[in-house]
Amino acid sequence: MKFEKSQEAFKEAKEYIPGGVDSPVRAFNSVGGTPPFIKEAKGAYLYDIDGNGYIDYVQSWGPLIFGHRDESIEEAIVEAVKRGTSFGAPTEIETKLAKLIVDTFDSIDKVRFVSSGTEAVMSAIRLARGYTGKDDIVKFSGCYHGHSDSLLVSAGSGAATFGTPSSPGVPSDFTKHTLVATYNDIESVKRCFNESDGIACVIIEPIAGNMGLVPADKEFLKELRELCDEHNTVLIFDEVMSGFRATFYGAESITAVKPDMVTLGKVIGGGMPVGAFGGKKEIMSKLSPEGPVYQAGTLSGNPVAMSAGYAAISKLKQNQRVYGVLEARAKRLMEGLEEVCAKLDIPVQTTVRGSMFGFFFNDKEVKNFDDAASSDEKLFAKFHQGMLNEGYYFACSMYETGFISTAITDEMIEETIKGFEKVLRT
Ligand SMILES: *Cc1c(COP(=O)(O)O)cnc(C)c1O
Repeated sequence: MKFEKSQEAFKEAKEYIPGGVDSPVRAFNSVGGTPPFIKEAKGAYLYDIDGNGYIDYVQSWGPLIFGHRDESIEEAIVEAVKRGTSFGAPTEIETKLAKLIVDTFDSIDKVRFVSSGTEAVMSAIRLARGYTGKDDIVKFSGCYHGHSDSLLVSAGSGAATFGTPSSPGVPSDFTKHTLVATYNDIESVKRCFNESDGIACVIIEPIAGNMGLVPADKEFLKELRELCDEHNTVLIFDEVMSGFRATFYGAESITAVKPDMVTLGKVIGGGMPVGAFGGKKEIMSKLSPEGPVYQAGTLSGNPVAMSAGYAAISKLKQNQRVYGVLEARAKRLMEGLEEVCAKLDIPVQTTVRGSMFGFFFNDKEVKNFDDAASSDEKLFAKFHQGMLNEGYYFACSMYETGFISTAITDEMIEETIKGFEKVLRT
């Protein structure tokens, strides 16, 4: 496979854009090599400017559950554009998508749309603070909630610590209200509650997809719910990635634990920039203009993005059995990887939730970020490079999740498993 044009394009991009990319993971820093520059895509396939084609297991990092250029979503976008790209005034399509989401999530009575997952989470946290009148928040090490200041936090290992910023440019004054706990470890959350004067919210990815795929234990979530109830703390499920990806009715339908608020993004935009946050009526009614907590956006509820999202979510609603089909394919893909690894004596851990799949080259089960970080990153980098050269586009970091779209067929899965064997043998 040749990457000459991509190499040239990357060189030029770096002259004008820091690192040549508009989101860091795209630069392939953790796996090496040149990121293919994409020319177009259709169905299961991405095509780069050198003419290489790839089966796409990234799906724009989650949004494209129907694959690239799904006809009904494409048509909804084109029709919306013809009526105007933005009005900065209310439209009926916002209510249609809102109703669809409210009808689907038990825990959402009202929802507000924004333009990214980052914005959704940032706003949800402000609202939780405004609603409870408390300042501190708890997040989990390894969970990603977008790049807003108070959430760009990592903590030292072990005990609960008040977070230190994980990026220059974030004053520690901004993160001193962010406490960091260990995923799937209720004792670490209790320590946060003991150390704090008042916790406004606990935010968690109930199916974590940003340290590889690591679902929360049911019992852990149940205890988290009890702890939040005890302290009048808002429980937020960040489902920007898992929402409409793992299942239709949200993580709450799998875990039987109901959050007070939910953040959404990715799939609900049908490939356009959309985020959303919603929750109980008494919390959402504190939001401006109904209540005092301010939040706004020039392009929020954009009609083109809403039309794409409505097309995607209503199509999912009518085809809920796709989740079973996608899960079966994801399971087969991971089973295939396990078979190949067993043959070659490579330790591997795999997980599937609906259309989401994840794997770690690790001999022990992964329950939290430290476990994930103990996986063989060098082997992952070689695996990634090898698969790319064979025409399989996997996420370029072992801390990401893979996705199956409806455009990926059983035959493509079997072909990919053969690719695993070829690549892992060398
Ligand atoms: C992607 C993601 C975000 C951030 O969304 P953006 O649209 O990239 O700002 C937040 N939370 C989770 C769980 C995500 O996966």
